[in-house]
Amino acid sequence: MLTVLESIQLSTEYLEKKGIESPRTNAELLLADILGCKRLDLYLKFDRPVSEEEKVKYREYISRRGKFEPLQYILGFVEFYGLKFFVDKNVLIPRQETETLIDTIVNQNKDEKGLRILDIGTGTGNLPVCLAKHLTDSTITTIDVSDEALNIAKKNIELHNLTDRINLEKIDILKETITAGNQYDIVVSNPPYVDEVQYNTLQKEITEFEPKSAVTDFSDGFSFYNRISEIHDSLLQQRGKVYFEIGAGQSEQVQTIMKNNNLDNVQVIKDYLDIDRVIYGVKK
Ligand code: GLN
Repeated sequence: MLTVLESIQLSTEYLEKKGIESPRTNAELLLADILGCKRLDLYLKFDRPVSEEEKVKYREYISRRGKFEPLQYILGFVEFYGLKFFVDKNVLIPRQETETLIDTIVNQNKDEKGLRILDIGTGTGNLPVCLAKHLTDSTITTIDVSDEALNIAKKNIELHNLTDRINLEKIDILKETITAGNQYDIVVSNPPYVDEVQYNTLQKEITEFEPKSAVTDFSDGFSFYNRISEIHDSLLQQRGKVYFEIGAGQSEQVQTIMKNNNLDNVQVIKDYLDIDRVIYGVKK
Protein backbone atom coordinates (compact mmCIF):
# COMPACT_ATOMS: atom_id res chain seq x y z
CA MET A 1 0.00 0.00 0.00
CA LEU A 2 1.29 3.44 -0.88
CA THR A 3 1.20 6.38 1.48
CA VAL A 4 -0.26 9.77 0.63
CA LEU A 5 3.20 11.21 0.05
CA GLU A 6 4.31 8.32 -2.18
CA SER A 7 1.12 8.52 -4.22
CA ILE A 8 1.59 12.25 -4.73
CA GLN A 9 5.22 11.78 -5.76
CA LEU A 10 4.44 9.07 -8.30
CA SER A 11 1.53 11.04 -9.77
CA THR A 12 3.60 14.21 -9.97
CA GLU A 13 6.27 12.39 -11.98
CA TYR A 14 3.62 10.96 -14.30
CA LEU A 15 1.95 14.30 -14.94
CA GLU A 16 5.31 15.97 -15.45
CA LYS A 17 6.22 13.42 -18.12
CA LYS A 18 2.93 14.07 -19.86
CA GLY A 19 3.76 17.79 -20.00
CA ILE A 20 1.14 19.04 -17.54
CA GLU A 21 1.89 22.44 -16.00
CA SER A 22 2.24 22.53 -12.18
CA PRO A 23 2.18 18.72 -11.87
CA ARG A 24 2.60 18.62 -8.09
CA THR A 25 -0.25 21.05 -7.46
CA ASN A 26 -2.49 19.03 -9.75
CA ALA A 27 -1.52 15.76 -8.07
CA GLU A 28 -2.22 17.25 -4.64
CA LEU A 29 -5.54 18.85 -5.52
CA LEU A 30 -6.88 15.64 -7.03
CA LEU A 31 -5.87 13.52 -4.04
CA ALA A 32 -7.23 16.08 -1.59
CA ASP A 33 -10.59 15.88 -3.36
CA ILE A 34 -10.63 12.08 -3.03
CA LEU A 35 -9.66 12.18 0.63
CA GLY A 36 -12.18 14.94 1.29
CA CYS A 37 -9.66 17.36 2.74
CA LYS A 38 -8.04 20.67 1.86
CA ARG A 39 -4.83 20.60 -0.15
CA LEU A 40 -2.74 21.90 2.74
CA ASP A 41 -4.15 19.26 5.09
CA LEU A 42 -2.45 16.60 2.98
CA TYR A 43 0.80 17.65 4.66
CA LEU A 44 -0.58 16.37 7.95
CA LYS A 45 -1.45 13.01 6.36
CA PHE A 46 1.74 12.20 4.44
CA ASP A 47 2.16 8.82 6.15
CA ARG A 48 -1.49 7.79 5.91
CA PRO A 49 -1.96 4.77 3.64
CA VAL A 50 -4.13 5.25 0.54
CA SER A 51 -6.82 2.55 0.44
CA GLU A 52 -7.46 0.36 -2.60
CA GLU A 53 -10.68 2.22 -3.39
CA GLU A 54 -9.01 5.62 -3.12
CA LYS A 55 -6.14 4.43 -5.27
CA VAL A 56 -8.45 3.28 -8.07
CA LYS A 57 -10.19 6.65 -8.11
CA TYR A 58 -6.91 8.56 -7.94
CA ARG A 59 -5.53 6.57 -10.88
CA GLU A 60 -8.57 7.48 -12.93
CA TYR A 61 -8.26 11.18 -12.07
CA ILE A 62 -4.53 11.29 -12.77
CA SER A 63 -4.97 9.47 -16.06
CA ARG A 64 -7.65 11.96 -17.15
CA ARG A 65 -5.46 14.91 -16.16
CA GLY A 66 -2.55 13.29 -18.03
CA LYS A 67 -4.72 13.46 -21.15
CA PHE A 68 -5.05 17.21 -20.57
CA GLU A 69 -8.59 17.22 -19.21
CA PRO A 70 -8.84 20.40 -17.10
CA LEU A 71 -8.65 19.89 -13.36
CA GLN A 72 -11.96 21.70 -12.87
CA TYR A 73 -13.87 19.25 -15.07
CA ILE A 74 -12.40 16.31 -13.14
CA LEU A 75 -13.29 17.87 -9.79
CA GLY A 76 -16.69 19.02 -11.10
CA PHE A 77 -16.49 22.43 -9.51
CA VAL A 78 -14.57 25.66 -9.60
CA GLU A 79 -14.17 28.66 -7.35
CA PHE A 80 -14.92 32.06 -8.85
CA TYR A 81 -15.12 35.36 -7.00
CA GLY A 82 -15.01 33.43 -3.72
CA LEU A 83 -18.03 31.29 -4.59
CA LYS A 84 -18.36 27.65 -5.60
CA PHE A 85 -19.77 26.66 -9.00
CA PHE A 86 -20.58 23.30 -10.56
CA VAL A 87 -18.82 22.95 -13.88
CA ASP A 88 -18.72 20.33 -16.64
CA LYS A 89 -17.61 19.96 -20.24
CA ASN A 90 -20.67 21.80 -21.54
CA VAL A 91 -19.57 25.15 -20.15
CA LEU A 92 -16.53 27.39 -20.16
CA ILE A 93 -14.47 27.19 -16.98
CA PRO A 94 -14.75 30.64 -15.35
CA ARG A 95 -11.45 32.52 -15.57
CA GLN A 96 -9.77 34.68 -12.95
CA GLU A 97 -9.59 37.69 -15.30
CA THR A 98 -13.38 37.66 -15.52
CA GLU A 99 -13.44 38.77 -11.88
CA THR A 100 -12.42 42.20 -13.23
CA LEU A 101 -15.80 42.37 -14.97
CA ILE A 102 -17.64 41.69 -11.70
CA ASP A 103 -15.46 44.16 -9.77
CA THR A 104 -16.16 46.91 -12.30
CA ILE A 105 -19.93 46.41 -12.37
CA VAL A 106 -20.23 46.03 -8.59
CA ASN A 107 -18.08 49.12 -7.85
CA GLN A 108 -20.00 51.31 -10.24
CA ASN A 109 -23.50 50.18 -9.30
CA LYS A 110 -23.48 49.17 -5.63
CA ASP A 111 -25.71 52.05 -4.54
CA GLU A 112 -28.28 51.67 -7.32
CA LYS A 113 -31.79 50.52 -6.44
CA GLY A 114 -33.94 48.11 -8.46
CA LEU A 115 -31.29 47.31 -11.05
CA ARG A 116 -32.36 45.22 -14.02
CA ILE A 117 -29.46 43.34 -15.58
CA LEU A 118 -29.17 41.26 -18.76
CA ASP A 119 -26.26 38.79 -18.98
CA ILE A 120 -25.52 37.38 -22.44
CA GLY A 121 -23.85 33.93 -22.54
CA THR A 122 -24.45 32.45 -19.10
CA GLY A 123 -22.12 29.42 -19.12
CA THR A 124 -21.89 28.26 -15.49
CA GLY A 125 -24.05 31.19 -14.44
CA ASN A 126 -21.05 32.69 -12.66
CA LEU A 127 -21.77 36.27 -13.69
CA PRO A 128 -25.46 36.45 -12.69
CA VAL A 129 -24.80 34.64 -9.40
CA CYS A 130 -21.92 36.94 -8.40
CA LEU A 131 -23.79 40.06 -9.50
CA ALA A 132 -26.93 39.03 -7.62
CA LYS A 133 -24.89 38.33 -4.46
CA HIS A 134 -23.11 41.69 -4.54
CA LEU A 135 -25.83 43.91 -6.00
CA THR A 136 -28.52 42.90 -3.58
CA ASP A 137 -31.23 45.12 -5.07
CA SER A 138 -31.06 43.68 -8.57
CA THR A 139 -32.91 41.21 -10.78
CA ILE A 140 -31.11 39.45 -13.57
CA THR A 141 -32.02 37.78 -16.84
CA THR A 142 -29.31 35.48 -18.13
CA ILE A 143 -29.42 33.91 -21.57
CA ASP A 144 -27.55 31.23 -23.47
CA VAL A 145 -27.99 29.36 -26.73
CA SER A 146 -27.00 26.02 -25.16
CA ASP A 147 -29.53 23.89 -23.24
CA GLU A 148 -26.69 22.14 -21.42
CA ALA A 149 -25.26 25.45 -20.24
CA LEU A 150 -28.70 26.60 -19.08
CA ASN A 151 -28.97 23.38 -17.04
CA ILE A 152 -25.64 23.92 -15.27
CA ALA A 153 -26.46 27.58 -14.66
CA LYS A 154 -29.80 26.54 -13.14
CA LYS A 155 -28.01 24.20 -10.72
CA ASN A 156 -25.64 26.98 -9.69
CA ILE A 157 -28.46 29.48 -9.26
CA GLU A 158 -30.24 26.95 -7.01
CA LEU A 159 -27.02 26.23 -5.11
CA HIS A 160 -26.79 29.92 -4.21
CA ASN A 161 -30.52 30.31 -3.47
CA LEU A 162 -31.06 32.91 -6.16
CA THR A 163 -33.92 31.38 -8.16
CA ASP A 164 -36.26 34.25 -7.27
CA ARG A 165 -33.88 36.91 -8.63
CA ILE A 166 -32.33 35.26 -11.70
CA ASN A 167 -34.33 34.28 -14.72
CA LEU A 168 -32.91 31.95 -17.42
CA GLU A 169 -33.86 32.08 -21.09
CA LYS A 170 -32.74 30.23 -24.18
CA ILE A 171 -31.91 32.84 -26.80
CA ASP A 172 -29.40 33.02 -29.66
CA ILE A 173 -28.50 36.68 -29.43
CA LEU A 174 -26.75 36.67 -32.82
CA LYS A 175 -30.06 35.79 -34.52
CA GLU A 176 -32.80 36.82 -32.12
CA THR A 177 -33.32 39.53 -29.58
CA ILE A 178 -35.02 39.96 -26.22
CA THR A 179 -38.79 40.31 -26.29
CA ALA A 180 -39.87 43.92 -26.71
CA GLY A 181 -40.53 45.93 -23.60
CA ASN A 182 -37.49 44.67 -21.72
CA GLN A 183 -35.44 47.71 -20.87
CA TYR A 184 -32.36 46.94 -18.82
CA ASP A 185 -30.10 49.19 -16.76
CA ILE A 186 -27.09 47.00 -17.50
CA VAL A 187 -26.16 44.60 -20.28
CA VAL A 188 -23.12 42.44 -19.53
CA SER A 189 -21.33 39.86 -21.61
CA ASN A 190 -18.16 37.81 -21.60
CA PRO A 191 -18.74 36.45 -25.09
CA PRO A 192 -16.71 33.90 -27.08
CA TYR A 193 -14.09 36.29 -28.39
CA VAL A 194 -11.16 34.24 -29.69
CA ASP A 195 -10.84 34.44 -33.47
CA GLU A 196 -11.07 31.15 -35.31
CA VAL A 197 -7.46 31.09 -36.54
CA GLN A 198 -6.02 31.86 -33.11
CA TYR A 199 -8.31 29.21 -31.57
CA ASN A 200 -6.20 26.44 -33.09
CA THR A 201 -3.11 27.69 -31.27
CA LEU A 202 -4.63 27.48 -27.78
CA GLN A 203 -3.68 24.88 -25.13
CA LYS A 204 -5.05 21.34 -25.49
CA GLU A 205 -6.96 21.78 -22.23
CA ILE A 206 -9.09 24.35 -24.07
CA THR A 207 -9.33 23.00 -27.62
CA GLU A 208 -9.90 19.38 -26.67
CA PHE A 209 -12.19 19.88 -23.70
CA GLU A 210 -13.96 23.22 -23.41
CA PRO A 211 -16.99 23.84 -25.67
CA LYS A 212 -15.70 25.48 -28.84
CA SER A 213 -18.72 27.74 -29.12
CA ALA A 214 -17.95 29.24 -25.68
CA VAL A 215 -14.44 30.21 -26.76
CA THR A 216 -14.67 31.35 -30.39
CA ASP A 217 -17.34 33.00 -32.52
CA PHE A 218 -16.05 30.94 -35.49
CA SER A 219 -15.14 34.24 -37.12
CA ASP A 220 -12.91 37.23 -36.33
CA GLY A 221 -13.74 37.31 -32.59
CA PHE A 222 -15.83 40.47 -32.82
CA SER A 223 -19.29 39.06 -33.72
CA PHE A 224 -20.82 39.50 -30.29
CA TYR A 225 -19.37 43.00 -29.74
CA ASN A 226 -20.81 44.03 -33.11
CA ARG A 227 -24.20 42.46 -32.52
CA ILE A 228 -24.72 43.60 -28.92
CA SER A 229 -23.52 47.14 -29.72
CA GLU A 230 -25.90 47.26 -32.69
CA ILE A 231 -28.95 46.25 -30.63
CA HIS A 232 -28.01 47.99 -27.36
CA ASP A 233 -30.58 50.69 -27.93
CA SER A 234 -33.47 48.20 -27.80
CA LEU A 235 -32.09 46.46 -24.69
CA LEU A 236 -31.12 49.36 -22.46
CA GLN A 237 -33.07 52.14 -20.92
CA GLN A 238 -31.86 55.77 -21.04
CA ARG A 239 -28.26 56.08 -19.69
CA GLY A 240 -28.08 52.29 -19.28
CA LYS A 241 -24.63 50.70 -19.63
CA VAL A 242 -23.06 47.91 -21.66
CA TYR A 243 -20.11 46.06 -20.03
CA PHE A 244 -17.96 43.70 -22.09
CA GLU A 245 -15.04 41.49 -21.22
CA ILE A 246 -12.54 41.54 -24.10
CA GLY A 247 -9.52 39.49 -25.13
CA ALA A 248 -5.92 40.75 -25.20
CA GLY A 249 -5.39 42.95 -28.25
CA GLN A 250 -9.09 43.63 -28.93
CA SER A 251 -9.38 46.90 -27.03
CA GLU A 252 -9.04 49.45 -29.87
CA GLN A 253 -11.42 47.67 -32.19
CA VAL A 254 -14.10 47.06 -29.56
CA GLN A 255 -13.96 50.73 -28.53
CA THR A 256 -14.42 51.69 -32.18
CA ILE A 257 -17.35 49.29 -32.60
CA MET A 258 -19.06 50.75 -29.52
CA LYS A 259 -18.51 54.36 -30.57
CA ASN A 260 -19.68 53.64 -34.13
CA ASN A 261 -22.88 52.27 -32.63
CA ASN A 262 -23.44 55.50 -30.73
CA LEU A 263 -22.38 54.36 -27.27
CA ASP A 264 -21.19 57.25 -25.17
CA ASN A 265 -18.36 57.67 -22.63
CA VAL A 266 -16.57 54.45 -23.67
CA GLN A 267 -13.98 53.49 -21.01
CA VAL A 268 -11.45 50.71 -20.50
CA ILE A 269 -10.46 48.88 -17.29
CA LYS A 270 -7.32 46.77 -16.96
CA ASP A 271 -7.07 43.37 -15.26
CA TYR A 272 -4.56 42.22 -12.61
CA LEU A 273 -1.99 41.57 -15.37
CA ASP A 274 -2.39 45.13 -16.66
CA ILE A 275 -4.17 44.00 -19.84
CA ASP A 276 -7.21 45.92 -21.15
CA ARG A 277 -9.97 43.56 -20.02
CA VAL A 278 -13.27 45.36 -19.55
CA ILE A 279 -14.90 48.01 -21.74
CA TYR A 280 -18.08 49.79 -20.93
CA GLY A 281 -20.19 52.44 -22.59
CA VAL A 282 -23.37 54.36 -21.89
CA LYS A 283 -26.54 54.62 -23.99
CA LYS A 284 -26.94 58.18 -25.26
N1 GLN B 1 -20.35 34.07 -18.69
C1 GLN B 1 -19.51 32.93 -18.53
C2 GLN B 1 -18.13 33.36 -18.02
O1 GLN B 1 -17.83 34.49 -18.00
C3 GLN B 1 -19.40 32.14 -19.82
C4 GLN B 1 -18.73 32.89 -20.93
C5 GLN B 1 -18.61 32.09 -22.21
O2 GLN B 1 -19.05 30.94 -22.30
N2 GLN B 1 -18.01 32.71 -23.20
O3 GLN B 1 -17.32 32.58 -17.62
